[in-house]
Amino acid sequence: MYTTLIIKTYHYYKILKRFIYTKILGRHYYRVGECKCCGECCQHIYVKHGKNVIKDEKLFHKLQYLHRFYTYLKVVGKDETGLIFSCQMQDTVTKKCKIHKNRPGICRRYPQEELFMMGGSLSDGCGYRLEPIIKFDEVLSKMMKKS
Ligand code: SF4
Ligand code: SF4
Repeated sequence: MYTTLIIKTYHYYKILKRFIYTKILGRHYYRVGECKCCGECCQHIYVKHGKNVIKDEKLFHKLQYLHRFYTYLKVVGKDETGLIFSCQMQDTVTKKCKIHKNRPGICRRYPQEELFMMGGSLSDGCGYRLEPIIKFDEVLSKMMKKS
């Protein structure tokens, strides 16, 4: 009885969670796993402003007035996606964030699925992964039913 109740509650929790993520937040992925504090993601950053990844340094310097996170960044390279930044708030020896308790929201929410949309990927060894909320076989079976 008690076990049944727990199983049913968990089942409804999963349905509710899925509804909120897909219908309210418009998400396609769950973020699972946990941060291993390796610091890799703080050294290879793309900045997306509006719909575009920043490719122009002059534009980026203008944006630095808009958000404190931008003031932490310095350009370390460029590739086909855009400018690559590293964050100066990372301790160069320990690789830890020097402002961990007050780090910006964008760092707290990392990694989000927008990363994929920008053509990015998680760092090797990252403790997180992004899993599709609606599994491929579920999509396939819906398509089969319709056809
Ligand atoms: S503020 Fe901290 S967590 Fe965010 S990118 Fe910089 S070092 Fe990393
Ligand atoms: S790369 Fe992944 S595991 Fe490493 S600090 Fe960033 S979020 Fe954490």
